[in-house]
Amino acid sequence: MGFQSALSEFTLAKIYFDEPMKKHTGFHVGGCARYYAEVDSLFGLNHLTSLAQKHKIKIKVLGNGTNVLFSDLGFDGLVIDLKKLNDVFFKRDEVRAMAGAKLDKLIKFNLDHRLSGLEALSGIPAEIGGAVVMNAGAFGHNISDYITTVETLYDGKIRVYDKNECKFGYRTSRFLRKKEIVVSASFLFPEGDREIISAGIKTYLDLRKSIQPAGCSCGSVFKNPKPYTAGALIDKAGLKGESVGGASISDKHANFIITNSKARAIDVYLLIQKIKRKVKDAFDIELVEEVECVGEF
Ligand SMILES: Cc1cc2nc3c(=O)[nH]c(=O)nc-3n(C[C@H](O)[C@H](O)[C@H](O)COP(=O)(O)OP(=O)(O)OC[C@H]3O[C@@H](n4cnc5c(N)ncnc54)[C@H](O)[C@@H]3O)c2cc1C
Repeated sequence: MGFQSALSEFTLAKIYFDEPMKKHTGFHVGGCARYYAEVDSLFGLNHLTSLAQKHKIKIKVLGNGTNVLFSDLGFDGLVIDLKKLNDVFFKRDEVRAMAGAKLDKLIKFNLDHRLSGLEALSGIPAEIGGAVVMNAGAFGHNISDYITTVETLYDGKIRVYDKNECKFGYRTSRFLRKKEIVVSASFLFPEGDREIISAGIKTYLDLRKSIQPAGCSCGSVFKNPKPYTAGALIDKAGLKGESVGGASISDKHANFIITNSKARAIDVYLLIQKIKRKVKDAFDIELVEEVECVGEF
């Protein structure tokens, strides 16, 4: 039996064929994933990945799609969506969050239980899996600050990594672009005062609103090449407001590319290349993408 027929009979996940990735990504662009599966159990995830491996089908795990640019040509493989695997709960004195839980859900859980630490990350539109893989962070705080262990699934095996094995760095970890699937993360948070935690969340949300543009985007496109910020370099290279097709550099924050309803993935991609070229010419600095391009460009 081929993979398509096997998937048609697969009952442990909700399966879609030729699913438009523009429905699932921050830029709202991109072609179709040949196969798309919404998984709601580790059991289902294990069976699905084994089936895909058996049929040699490429797998891409999706979080909230806020750091990925899928090609207009689509993805010739299986995209796995974990958003239904989203519990957040106590495991003894630690908090465990499943990969598909929204980061804001974890922050709300912490507020309800008077736990502090992640307030600065409020408003990052990530799922826990994507946030762990990217080591999402803001205003000097990173999700890895409070992680104790990360649990993964690969090849039918669950593996638990201690924090020091996770190789967390600036917007990176050992899990980035690897085959292991992050299924949960455990955290140890300091206790705090509810009013102070709540005020912290509001302060950071207001700050975020004041510096980041609204509209369809994937947040910062490039990593900051320390000691500079990518936004300042793009601005100084005279690129603010520049556009290709339906993709343009934000007037408010030059490291954001905003797409309109007519944008295609190739517009974003070409704008990224243009920015890299101009910044290299102006300052001899190679900007490195934080956003990941998936598929052929
Ligand atoms: C308005 C806006 C503001 C933002 N602000 C910030 C910010 O302040 N700080 C910041 O760090 N980022 C920010 N981002 C970028 C983005 O939200 C983060 O990079 C986030 O960590 C991506 O999470 P995601 O769930 O959307 O992951 P996705 O974009 O879906 O995936 C990112 C990568 O992780 C992989 N992945 C996802 N889940 C798993 C899993 N369970 N197992 C294995 N691999 C997985 C994907 O395959 C992909 O390689 C912002 C984005 C937007 C749109």
